[in-house]
Amino acid sequence: MVNVQVINPFDQSVAGTVPRAEISDCLAAVDAAQAAFTTWRATPPRARAEILRRAFDLMIAEHDELSRTIVRENGKVLADAKAEVTYAAEFFRWFSEEAVRIDGDYRRAPSGANWLLVSRQPVGAALLATPWNFPAAMATRKIGPALAAGCTVVLKPASNTPLTAVAICDILRRAGVPDGVVSVVVPEPSGPAVTAMLGSGKIRKLSFTGSTKVGSLLLAQAAQHVINCSMELGGNAPLVVFDDADLDVAIEGSMLAKMRNGGAACTAANRFFVHEKVHDKFVDAFTNRMASLVLGDGLDPKTNVGPLVSRNEQDSVAAFVDGAVAQGATLACGGKRAADKSFGYQPTVLTNVRFDNDILKHEIFGPVAPIVRFSDADDVLRHCNSVEHGLVSYVFTRDVGRGLRFAEELETGMVGLNRGLVSDPAAPFGGVKASGLGREGGHDGLLAFLETKYVATNW
Ligand code: NAD
Repeated sequence: MVNVQVINPFDQSVAGTVPRAEISDCLAAVDAAQAAFTTWRATPPRARAEILRRAFDLMIAEHDELSRTIVRENGKVLADAKAEVTYAAEFFRWFSEEAVRIDGDYRRAPSGANWLLVSRQPVGAALLATPWNFPAAMATRKIGPALAAGCTVVLKPASNTPLTAVAICDILRRAGVPDGVVSVVVPEPSGPAVTAMLGSGKIRKLSFTGSTKVGSLLLAQAAQHVINCSMELGGNAPLVVFDDADLDVAIEGSMLAKMRNGGAACTAANRFFVHEKVHDKFVDAFTNRMASLVLGDGLDPKTNVGPLVSRNEQDSVAAFVDGAVAQGATLACGGKRAADKSFGYQPTVLTNVRFDNDILKHEIFGPVAPIVRFSDADDVLRHCNSVEHGLVSYVFTRDVGRGLRFAEELETGMVGLNRGLVSDPAAPFGGVKASGLGREGGHDGLLAFLETKYVATNW
């Protein structure tokens, strides 16, 4: 059997290995999911809920070990990995509570001639594909609602971070998930195996988190069998600091919105728009904070920022910064790769960025903050909405009315108002435009794995 080697992005040592799934293994996992669906959907919601609740308890009991696995394969700092495991486990707790709240409806037809009976049924066997940046949370955010709804799943994690996914599936097995209900496959390369699974005619749901490029490719493939799709795709979040903002709150929120996960988050603030009246003060304080962060090994307690996941990611971040400087931006701090052989990149602040600088048009996915000075709110709103993505925005102002009016106009699925963090298992997470279709988390996350069945009733 061939193994996939998982590389530690800090020192390029081998963090672990997992068996490489051949296309035939992936199709066998789909068959197992389809076969197990009949009994899993009939398992009482309370029993499904209790298994998820046990999985939550096990994740919390094994918190430290899981966090270290994330650091070894992903590179993020231990504090971020610990926060991720807590967040990830919460999806099992939340959806254990949602499993017993699958509602229906029973109404008299307006004509009075009959009754309208509406219930919800699980969609079927689901393919879940997840990215490398949150190896635990992106998996549990899908597995939790799928199992709660009565769906069975095949999880395909990113091949550079499969160890956490394998550990979570083992936890689910120990929590009592029956054979076939959850499988994890690690094909390498991913494309042909995913195409084969989607083309099998047995997958009824595709829940994908990753880049917009791969997401749209998979939407086209899913169209062939009209597969129900949820898409959590890329972001390019604006962060707006108005002249009346509490600057301490804005700096704290900006650090969180930019540096959670070392900047490798779909929710990461990518375009900072700061009002000219507070611009210099904000830049000084924010640059001081960014420059004080220590880049290094995620397992070292002195480290604040870990490496990026691969040489490719490091090259891409370096190219964004070099390109922005070539177009007139100024380096306020950072701007270099890590001095050691890791895939790290220094926390970087770019000032004098013009609205038309190319760096604002792309998802950076690293610790780089380009700052644009603005004077007119309508102008900045237009720029916020000018990109193809629409996942999240951040707004800082003491005037909550102004903030809410601005939030209404922003073309994003989520807005952080005087907050640099929006993710919450109890809230509907997702984007508009090229950032995706559907929501995960909250009650909406459960509905994504359910179909509505309507029976016109007479007796
Ligand atoms: P990616 O699109 O390269 O990969 C995502 C998944 O798709 C992985 O499992 C990968 O192995 C698989 N994949 C890659 N190419 C494929 C192909 N041709 N056919 C089938 N599957 C394929 O994304 P990534 O680099 O792992 O993650 C970063 C991206 O994910 C960023 O754009 C980020 O914004 C996005 N993301 C979005 C959210 C969200 O909730 N909206 C959350 C986290 C990450």
